[in-house]
Amino acid sequence: MKCRKCGKRKAKGVDCKFCHRERAAKAVHHLEGCLRHRFRLLMNRTRGRHWPPPDFTLDQFLARFLRDPDYLRIHARWTASGFKKSESPSVDRIDPRVPYLLENIRIVPWPDNHAKGATTDRELGTVDPAQWCPDNCSGYAGVSPAGVPDNLDVIPENEEIPDWL
Ligand SMILES: [Zn+2]
Repeated sequence: MKCRKCGKRKAKGVDCKFCHRERAAKAVHHLEGCLRHRFRLLMNRTRGRHWPPPDFTLDQFLARFLRDPDYLRIHARWTASGFKKSESPSVDRIDPRVPYLLENIRIVPWPDNHAKGATTDRELGTVDPAQWCPDNCSGYAGVSPAGVPDNLDVIPENEEIPDWL
C-alpha cells in the first residue's frame, strides 16, 4: 500500500515511516503537543523505573504549564532555534529526591536537566515518603502501575522520536 500523504513510499498503515515521523514531530513541536509529549515521557520514565506515579493527570499538567511564563519563554526560544536539542523544554524535578509531584516540577531547557539527570536519579527516594505522600505510603516498592492514569494515547506511539524533540 502506498503512503496516503506523500504517495511515494510504502506504508503499513495510513502513512509511511517518514511521513509518520514528520507528523509526530510537528505535533510534538506544537505548544500543547510538546507538553503532551513531555507528560508521556515522564509517565514512561516513572513506569520503567518503578517510581511512584505522579500526583497529577494530563489535564492538570496542561493546566499548570500551558500559560506558564517559563514554559512559554523556553518554548519560544526552542521554536526560534528551529527546534534544536539544546533549546528543548524538559520537565525537571525541583527536589530530585522527590518524585514527579505537581509542586515539585518545572520546565527547564533540556541541557540543564540532562546535566543533572544522571546523578539526581540516584537521589530519588532518599526523602521519607511520609514527607510528600498524601497517603503516607511506606516507600517506593510495590507501587501499583494501576495507579498510573491511562490517558497517553494523544500522540501516536513512536519509538523513533528522541526525548528531546
Ligand atoms: Zn509518506
